[in-house]
Amino acid sequence: MARGFFNVPIAKNEPVKGYVPGSTEREELLAMYKSMYNSNTDIPMHINGEEVRTGNTKNVTPPHDHKHIVGQYHTADKSHVEKAISTALAAREAWSSVSWTERASIFLKAAELLAGPYRAKMNAATMIAQSKNVHQAEIDAACEMIDFFRFNVQYMTDIFKDQPESAPGIWNRVEYRPLEGFVYAITPFNFTSIAANLPASAALMGNVVVWKPSDHQAYSAQVIVDLFKEAGLPDGVINVVYGDPVMITDTVLSSADFSGLHFTGSTHVFKHLWKQIGNNIEKYKTYPRIVGETGGKDFIWAHNSANPLQVATAITRGAFEYQGQKCSAASRAYIPASIWADVKKHLIAQTSELKMGSPEDPSNFINAVIHEGSFDKIAKYIDAAKSDSEAEIIIGGNHDKSVGYFIEPTVIVSDSPKYATMCTELFGPVMTIYVYEDAEWENSLKLVDESTEYALTGAIFSTDRYIVEKASKALENAAGNFYINDKPTGAVVGQQPFGGARASGTNDKAGSAQNLLRWTSVRLIKETFVTPQDYKYPFLG
Ligand code: NAD
Repeated sequence: MARGFFNVPIAKNEPVKGYVPGSTEREELLAMYKSMYNSNTDIPMHINGEEVRTGNTKNVTPPHDHKHIVGQYHTADKSHVEKAISTALAAREAWSSVSWTERASIFLKAAELLAGPYRAKMNAATMIAQSKNVHQAEIDAACEMIDFFRFNVQYMTDIFKDQPESAPGIWNRVEYRPLEGFVYAITPFNFTSIAANLPASAALMGNVVVWKPSDHQAYSAQVIVDLFKEAGLPDGVINVVYGDPVMITDTVLSSADFSGLHFTGSTHVFKHLWKQIGNNIEKYKTYPRIVGETGGKDFIWAHNSANPLQVATAITRGAFEYQGQKCSAASRAYIPASIWADVKKHLIAQTSELKMGSPEDPSNFINAVIHEGSFDKIAKYIDAAKSDSEAEIIIGGNHDKSVGYFIEPTVIVSDSPKYATMCTELFGPVMTIYVYEDAEWENSLKLVDESTEYALTGAIFSTDRYIVEKASKALENAAGNFYINDKPTGAVVGQQPFGGARASGTNDKAGSAQNLLRWTSVRLIKETFVTPQDYKYPFLG
């Protein structure tokens, strides 16, 4: 029971370490990578704080060396999922009523552990399992996850401070209760920080959680579980199950106590889940909260007043960092004819320098894409572009999955603004460019707005303020995160809350108070000090 209006530490973004050659952090991380890469990790499920091993396992293999086995994770049958639900519900009473200060302390401690002793392990696990280079691992698995924990604690207290007015003789107050039931978190492969944040944000607000990580992130999910445990998260608050997503989800969504879905992943899966929840609506005790951050087809649009080198740099970084597997990654660009030759020259010069290979060698900018299904899909579109009359590959175009799932950074130029790779989310290192006539700039903005179902991130480049204002207005619904003269990736918690609308999600902005509010159900309490005893109002005479 808190006896004071406590201030939490002011949240600050975790500084990104440089990992320059010879630095201690680089040596420590590469040594950790090597040792983890050469050992075998057995990854159990976690139900009620217990490690659950079913013997029904799947191998973990790094995408950049898919014949090499670094561990195996155990998968659930229906009974494990049911146990995860009943365990979460059993933990609910204690967790939902403990003082918020205790919950805050657990996640603030997790942030400090990750900034210190867990940093190298979390980064190395992410490099191995998700094929991220040193820098991409650091900004995700260390810095963004730390930021989520620290800022969410601050946002929680900001929310709690938001209280109604009280008229004379009355005290109005609202309390931010956790949802009645349990929250189901389903997380994607591409960000270790998102994997941690989806269950953690709901838990911070007092909810209990069943968490189903992506199969392709189980290896780093295990480090998250270790981190939560060491930070003091009580048993049963977050329960982790792996395995068949359909069976797990059918079981979870059949529970009368299901009260919220915290999802990040692809659009078609989320739409399917939404329908399933709708079909089950009569089963639930409460209307479930549905929060989903989903796919994107993120754009870069340039005006002829833009600086060609800046545009090219935004494409190189925005489209190819982490092999284009950030939800925010640029994958279509609209460039005016008058600056295209210069943009192309810089783009060819920059991309020709990008080295590709294992993240163990930090000089590799590009690593592997996540799995064979993803590789095959991306390769199919690239190969089609090789023979399509509407497309020309001007950079890259090669791919090889013999050792790892490697795809060269590829730039396609199409004279059709509706060409397949201008509209379809590939989630790989493929950028498609449409060159428009300068005079057609207003029409080109329409193309940006109307060519896809998504609205996640987008960037415009211009040095003309009239154009910047007009383009910002024309694209006001085309992106939830909109960038002016910068690449559309790299959102930082506390600075650029992240999320998109249309088919890109419910735009509840991960890493913000808006998101945390979804995991609460407000109770208004009105207390009257001198209670009326006469039913007659004055107007009755
Ligand atoms: P995915 O949709 O394949 O998988 C996401 C999660 O859903 C995984 O845990 C997976 O096991 C689970 N899943 C798959 N099929 C399911 C089913 N039928 N029922 C229940 N669960 C199911 O996505 P991914 O490949 O892991 O991630 C890439 C996708 O995520 C891209 O579309 C990307 O744009 C999106 N993404 C969006 C954001 C954002 O903030 N908008 C962030 C990260 C990723």
